[in-house]
Amino acid sequence: MAETLIEVRDLGLIYEKEKETFQALDHINLEIHKGEFVCIIGSSGCGKSTLLSVLEGLNKPTTGEVLINGKVVNGAGPERAVVFQNYSLFPWLTARDNVAFAVRKSRKKLQKIRKKESLEIADEFLERVQLQGFANKLPGELSGGMQQRVAIARALACNPQILLMDEPFGAIDAKTRENLQQLLLKLWREDKNKKTVVFVTHDLDEALLLADRIVFMVPKGVHQILDVDIPRPRSKESLFDNSEYRRLHGELVKLFYKEHIYKEIGGEEVII
Ligand code: ADP
Ligand code: MG
Repeated sequence: MAETLIEVRDLGLIYEKEKETFQALDHINLEIHKGEFVCIIGSSGCGKSTLLSVLEGLNKPTTGEVLINGKVVNGAGPERAVVFQNYSLFPWLTARDNVAFAVRKSRKKLQKIRKKESLEIADEFLERVQLQGFANKLPGELSGGMQQRVAIARALACNPQILLMDEPFGAIDAKTRENLQQLLLKLWREDKNKKTVVFVTHDLDEALLLADRIVFMVPKGVHQILDVDIPRPRSKESLFDNSEYRRLHGELVKLFYKEHIYKEIGGEEVII
């Protein structure tokens, strides 16, 4: 049996703004195993980013709890790193300094690290994302795809157990996106201490390419969890010849379609 790393127990989250309240998540239960690659999909506004923000420790649950390694999450932690859609790099720092700064910050509580060492780690990880020639560039001098590679290098350089990714390739053009997906899969596969990845996307094909399991969300909750039993390594081309890919793709399209009707009707109890 795979070991559980992340446990979401009866999670609920209500946003409160002045006198307005909005229930974004309700009764979510989910277990994610060590080394697993999980994709969360669902239409816009169903609560994917909110769920990820709770895993990150940025938002506190209103009810229920999240446990990581058996401990209740109560804020950010060095075992977690995040990559978002907007590159979130410091624009005044070079690629190398962006990575090195994050490394120093993440290590602060664990052990002191010298600046020189953090720069060496930064160079090592920039090389892994094939950006060795661009270490001294500012984010503004890099393309979107390159900035996102810096963000991935930054996250991995902090040596987290868990990588939380929120539509990281959502703003990237199709070809570059494919390269980044393959790069991410390669880094994940070749890692000695395989990271656990929680990756939000609304792209079915991206989820089927990347995931061991797909968590399909509907507004406020998890509707269904699908195992993706497609052999690895996977490529876009190899997927088309795979019958399990076609079956899962059909299933996911149906789920999206049902949810679409559900939204049009606007009644929670009508469908699903
Ligand atoms: P997704 O990432 O699936 O598109 P989100 O998690 O961003 O969805 O949002 C889920 C719901 O919560 C949406 O209806 C959104 O409008 C609402 N929401 C998100 N952030 C806030 C906030 N800070 N305050 C109030 N409502 C919010
Ligand atoms: Mg979102």
